[in-house]
Amino acid sequence: MTEYRIAAIPGDGIGAEVIPAGLKVLDATAQRDGGFALRVTTLPWGSSFFRRHGRLMPEDGLEQLRGFDAIYFGAVGDPQIADHVTLWGLRLPICQGFDQYANVRPTRILPGLTSPLRNCGSADLDWIIVRENTEGEYSGAGGRVHRSLAEEVGVEVSVFTRAAVERIMRFAFELARKRERRHLTLVTKSNAQRHGMVMWDEVFAATAKAYADVTTDRELVDAVTTRMVLRPRTLDVMVATNLHADILSDLAASLASSIGIAPTANLNPERRFPSMFEPIHGSAFDIAGKGIANPIGAFWTAAMMLDHLGEGEAGARLMAAIERVTRAGEPLTPDLGGTATTLQVTDSVCDAIQSANC
Ligand code: ATP
Repeated sequence: MTEYRIAAIPGDGIGAEVIPAGLKVLDATAQRDGGFALRVTTLPWGSSFFRRHGRLMPEDGLEQLRGFDAIYFGAVGDPQIADHVTLWGLRLPICQGFDQYANVRPTRILPGLTSPLRNCGSADLDWIIVRENTEGEYSGAGGRVHRSLAEEVGVEVSVFTRAAVERIMRFAFELARKRERRHLTLVTKSNAQRHGMVMWDEVFAATAKAYADVTTDRELVDAVTTRMVLRPRTLDVMVATNLHADILSDLAASLASSIGIAPTANLNPERRFPSMFEPIHGSAFDIAGKGIANPIGAFWTAAMMLDHLGEGEAGARLMAAIERVTRAGEPLTPDLGGTATTLQVTDSVCDAIQSANC
């Protein structure tokens, strides 16, 4: 039997609720499959760890993670600690340190769920956002001078390297090529940002020459928001920078019903390092501790993790179990209009996994 080593980092807020729920459905999926097992090590990193040790993860955190087959991550963020400290202390060092350059964010309206858009059914909204995940606006380049004085200056530099842009474009085209519609939209802002973003566009156009079977178009990031709302059907795969995709994927998740259902995979496609799987939502302290966080985003990303590990059939079964519960219309958490708890949704998905036709 194949055994996969999984590092689980529940982190903060509702991360600590949805990751244990996800581990439960993963366990049910592995038991049902019978062909593989998951050996899970839970790492207590995040804001509580920071309070005790002055850092979000141990100094050798990346070394500890390196030997795992995948990382299953919850969320990081704390009302008492500045967001840039928590983000740069845990999630970003893992994404950047492990060169997880392709962030893949699928969005679709699961059966039984409704979009806040009028007349928008599941056939109208089925997207994947591919996010450049290692540089761009989140490269961390910049600084502050004349601190606290009236003359203070803050500089935040976006970094676009040709090598990183080329590889994310190739990744997006390869992914688009595998989809039924084979359409890729370049999201850009090269009208106002005339250096890195113009190179971004040029690399896209050059890469497109090798993918004649993929149709393409180009949209400014502001314009693509209106297209997502008014003409969702015209979009298939989108490739966007780190910041743009971050924003667009929250919009995409909400248009598909709730941010609570949306998954993300931070991939190192060459598999030199472990990849990381997480729901796209954050720590959501407004609902933390109430037991009502929607675990579906954590389940969907668990299905993506199984797929990445080579257990595609088990991943598909987990997805079918999730859809069986959403199609039934209950139990669903309050963000989807229901009254159920995280635990009730988790148990229903586990039951669906065990049932014969999932
Ligand atoms: P962070 O700063 O850590 O990215 P946040 O708490 O500012 O996160 P999100 O966690 O992304 O923001 O969530 C925004 C809002 O969406 C939350 O306030 C919460 O009400 C809702 N939400 C997010 N995730 C879920 C979920 N899994 N289930 C139900 N509601 C959710």
